[in-house]
Amino acid sequence: MFISEQLISLFQGLGSDFINCIKLIDSLCFEQAGTELNKIRTVIDSQNTKWSNERDEVLNEVYLLNRFVDLLSSYSAIWMNIAESKLTNSWNSLQDSMDHLRSVKKISNGTEMRLLDFLENQLIDLEKLYPYNMFFSMGVKVDWFECSICGKDIDSIECEHTKGELYRGKVAYGIAKNIGYVDHVGIVKYPADKRCVVQYDDDGPQFEVLRYVTGLLTSQKMRPLSFHHLHFSQRTKKNPEFKKLPRNAVCFCGSGRKFKKCCISKEFVEFDHIDIVTREIDKEEDGGGGAALLLQIDE
Ligand SMILES: [Zn+2]
Ligand SMILES: [Zn+2]
Repeated sequence: MFISEQLISLFQGLGSDFINCIKLIDSLCFEQAGTELNKIRTVIDSQNTKWSNERDEVLNEVYLLNRFVDLLSSYSAIWMNIAESKLTNSWNSLQDSMDHLRSVKKISNGTEMRLLDFLENQLIDLEKLYPYNMFFSMGVKVDWFECSICGKDIDSIECEHTKGELYRGKVAYGIAKNIGYVDHVGIVKYPADKRCVVQYDDDGPQFEVLRYVTGLLTSQKMRPLSFHHLHFSQRTKKNPEFKKLPRNAVCFCGSGRKFKKCCISKEFVEFDHIDIVTREIDKEEDGGGGAALLLQIDE
């Protein structure tokens, strides 16, 4: 994950703290996990002055380490919100985690860490349990974008920076200048920001499946790290509305048509069924424990 000696030794030094943190999240001790993460942040910050004159790569790695801490912190927030039935909030934490995960993956240059792959697959499947298939996308008119590094127009040739790239530990991005009126609000399937969603109440029927997950967590039938993947299938069940009638009788559904021309074949209905497949990582390999297994701190 890291190339500079300093960062490698710092990351290794923090190794047991990271593992401890993941274990705390897995045991639903979110507050303690937060405390641990803050301690880690303090250790990183205390090194800051040492790094101010460092090479670009080192500063970029400091950025990576900070995003890694952010990732664990938002990951903890997902499961905390789900456990507390704050389902709308859990969606936002999920999107934050996805953002942090992607920047960590991008900067770590494909150095595959088992934990990152595990989290990515888990979050992609967790996302499918949310009732958001439609997102709002806003069209905004902007005059120009100021480069966050040099202050010039990021799309002009005077600015030498590329959006999304790191420069001495800072990401270059465009700051919208002279924001005009909202052009249009569209409803799209693949938006730029998945946080713009149709809002549902946390206790609404749309969150039925997620509430089931809340139940699994609070009754200790499932732990965050054991949520492995989803299995979708079609099942049939008896239609509760169905009434067997003489073929020429008026149909029970109120359509006014004859039974034989209407609901005669609707005795059973198909519905979507989702299985949550769990996996106990702890039991798969002896010693170490699941968290240590996922987070392989290279020696
Ligand atoms: Zn620039
Ligand atoms: Zn009918």
